[in-house]
Amino acid sequence: MTKYIYMDNAATTPVKKEVFDEMLPFFSEQYGNPSSVYSLANASKMAVEKARERVAIAIGADKKEIFFTAGGSESDNWAIKGIAYSQKKKGNHIITTKIEHHGILHTCQYLEKQGFEVTYLDVDEDGIVDLEQLRASIKDTTILISIMFANNEIGTIQPIKEIGKIAKENDVLFHTDAVQAMGHVKIDVNDLNIDLLSMSAHKIYGPKGVGALYIRRGVKIDPLISGGAQERNKRAGTENVPGIVGLGKAVEIAYENMEDSNKKLINLRDSLIKKIEDNIDYIRLNGHRTERLPGNVNFSFEFIEGESLLLSLDMVGIAASSGSACTSGSLDPSHVLLSIGLPHEIAHGSLRLSLGDFNTEDEIDYVVDKLVTIVDRLRQMSPLYDRIKGEN
Ligand SMILES: *Cc1c(COP(=O)(O)O)cnc(C)c1O
Repeated sequence: MTKYIYMDNAATTPVKKEVFDEMLPFFSEQYGNPSSVYSLANASKMAVEKARERVAIAIGADKKEIFFTAGGSESDNWAIKGIAYSQKKKGNHIITTKIEHHGILHTCQYLEKQGFEVTYLDVDEDGIVDLEQLRASIKDTTILISIMFANNEIGTIQPIKEIGKIAKENDVLFHTDAVQAMGHVKIDVNDLNIDLLSMSAHKIYGPKGVGALYIRRGVKIDPLISGGAQERNKRAGTENVPGIVGLGKAVEIAYENMEDSNKKLINLRDSLIKKIEDNIDYIRLNGHRTERLPGNVNFSFEFIEGESLLLSLDMVGIAASSGSACTSGSLDPSHVLLSIGLPHEIAHGSLRLSLGDFNTEDEIDYVVDKLVTIVDRLRQMSPLYDRIKGEN
């Protein structure tokens, strides 16, 4: 194997050097506990507060509204459970969508078992949520709307401003999982009427196991992790100082470079989409063509198993995904692909290539070249494909 091409940036990204360099001192030199009073602790405490400020600035929030967590999943769990438990006197109804990350979906299913009622909104064939259905679903008992900013599998970006407006008009709290949108979309929590927002460092060239939840001032929320008084009594546990420093730096870089990075990614993405469409037949691009994350490419290939495709790509040094990383290993097709109306057999033949800052046009050509050969070879083994070819 001569080269390795990583096109699974929606699953995780490498830590950028500038991020790593800022984190490094906080392992062995500046190891103080931010809660301690002696001077060694000061550097840690200041670094955590600097990161908080960087994150706040990126989304138009106040630093007192940023709470560090152990990643996107914890932020999602906290937003949903924390609001549900703290508002249950007001109501027990939550609205979300069928295409959320499992961090949201499984949390909602857990709450359903405890007597909460959850509405899972449909999406259209491009993955856009139905705003009329959203309006119609709101009732007196609705306490929370949770709709992801951008989808991790098909890249579709939701009309978040309209959703925020609907939530506000109806006096319902609005949470958004912005893990995939961070660094690719301008986010101003006030302009968009967002009350809670989840983010994660490792999807934007920061370290794994650290994230944040933005909680609008005045929003009452139960803690998810009880214990010490860290994070203004809302999230216990000694702070992951290097991780938090990494998150802050990653967020800062992502927003400083956003325009250039998006421009480059959109060029690569559209080139990859065009080359696949020009060279392979019986395919379908999943997700919205324009309201789409700059780095997301997702295709279904008829007469092919996604898993075989992934293994064949891996053998020629290409890392991709057939859905979300969490679902590989399970035989059920992705809930997102089923929700946009794909039949099971088509959903099974899907491939996500998610581009990042380190991909190049040469890599696009290499991947298309390999993909054409692999798809052709896999289809030769399909009796159904044989028959269709015979008919044409
Ligand atoms: C990756 C991801 C998460 C989970 O984040 P972790 O930091 O890996 O826990 C949640 N939501 C979306 C949309 C994601 O892509």
